[in-house]
Amino acid sequence: MTTSGTAVLGGGALGLTLAYRLALAGERVVVMEREGEAGGLAAGFPVGESGVYLEKFYHHLFRTDTAAVALIEELGLGEKLYWGEPNSSLLYQGVPYRLAGSVGAILAITPLPLLDRLRLGAGGAFLKVLPSPGMLEGKTAAAWLRRWMGKRAYEVVWEPQLRGKFGAYADKIAMPWMWGRIHCRTNSLGYLKGGFQALYEALVAAIEAHGGEVRLNTEVQSVKPAGGDTLRVISGFGKEQYNRVVSTLASRVTFKVTPDLPADFRKQYEWGAAYGAHCLILALDRPLLKDVYWLSITDPDYPFLAAVEHTNYIPAEEYGGRHLLYLGSYLPMDHSTMRATTEETLAQYLPHLSRLNPAFSPEWIREKWSFAAPFAQPIVTTDYKAHIPPHETPIPNFYMANMFQVYPQDRGQNYSIVLANNLAKKLIGE
Ligand SMILES: Cc1cc2nc3c(=O)[nH]c(=O)nc-3n(C[C@H](O)[C@H](O)[C@H](O)COP(=O)(O)OP(=O)(O)OC[C@H]3O[C@@H](n4cnc5c(N)ncnc54)[C@H](O)[C@@H]3O)c2cc1C
Repeated sequence: MTTSGTAVLGGGALGLTLAYRLALAGERVVVMEREGEAGGLAAGFPVGESGVYLEKFYHHLFRTDTAAVALIEELGLGEKLYWGEPNSSLLYQGVPYRLAGSVGAILAITPLPLLDRLRLGAGGAFLKVLPSPGMLEGKTAAAWLRRWMGKRAYEVVWEPQLRGKFGAYADKIAMPWMWGRIHCRTNSLGYLKGGFQALYEALVAAIEAHGGEVRLNTEVQSVKPAGGDTLRVISGFGKEQYNRVVSTLASRVTFKVTPDLPADFRKQYEWGAAYGAHCLILALDRPLLKDVYWLSITDPDYPFLAAVEHTNYIPAEEYGGRHLLYLGSYLPMDHSTMRATTEETLAQYLPHLSRLNPAFSPEWIREKWSFAAPFAQPIVTTDYKAHIPPHETPIPNFYMANMFQVYPQDRGQNYSIVLANNLAKKLIGE
């Protein structure tokens, strides 16, 4: 049993960035990751014979993701970062409408009367220039958007997206979260060519080069105080003692593996709901969505929330000519689709593909994969903020840092990297 260094639980964007910063500062650090690859929710898999990595769940960056861009550059991957403005659209009653945020695009949303289009544009412009969401605290997105952008714009544009992402919680989502979605996002999107996996592999290599360890296939079972301000970690690797433990696991999972966190701390912070994410990915021999990269589906009878044709953004030639299509949804973690086989999901989704393109034939499908992940989307209701746990916990030297602490922005790689950078500074300072 060793007694030294920091154990970082979880090898996603947050855990790996934190471990990298601690290792750079000369600390002994061990990352424990349950899965067989690094990268967490942003991890990828090799696409067929091309061997090129693709994320299990669609991923891109925004121009405002400056911490992620800085880390990519710091690790020497800047040349692989590609920026483009692919077509993002909203499917309403079978017709795609561009969501580019430009005046022309908003005026082209003809299912809305002109006055509603103008209100939609004015409301969006206001949120773009509002520097901080303080005045929106305590308000739901449903109430604010209805009031300021109009009932019709809410029903056509916003409600289907909120319902797709948050299901039964759609009416309770905090307006500051919606501010984050509109204020902090750009039409220009960034992608790490060859897959974001390259970033996570580079972090693992850098951690190891600085004397740290990244243990994959290592599930953490428990963390307990072990006397003298040390902590005992029990994992697939065995029992070990550390001077410090940082859990980057979802708050609820952290509470589960740390039974000694006291009742009053639990009462305040072991709180809130989350959805899982599910994606069926098809490799087609031709495009399905013509030129659309991102299609938000608002028609309620589709079984998925978004169709994302990755190769309408990054050319199919990069993947041996395969056209890669994600069909994604956020679901309660006990939903049957979260446990369905790829074949079962495909059978359910197939009839809807010819609605997206009447020429579609199942023969276009050359390969398929499906992925499901728990704790993928925090449900950011109006009382969420008051229940965000601090990094410090009542157990000495035990810290929590996870994407459930991101607020008001929607979680994203960038914000996990920001949390890691800030916590690393604090811990190194100590
Ligand atoms: C569908 C979808 C689309 C997304 N799109 C984007 C996007 O376009 N751009 C973007 O930047 N972000 C996007 N994100 C969000 C992004 O993936 C996350 O914000 C980011 O990857 C979170 O990193 P993290 O390290 O905080 O958490 P995670 O990636 O969740 O890392 C936690 C790690 O802990 C591990 N773990 C869990 N339990 C244990 C245990 N008991 N023992 C050991 N290890 C354990 C998990 O396997 C995981 O690797 C998307 C997410 C989803 C689900």
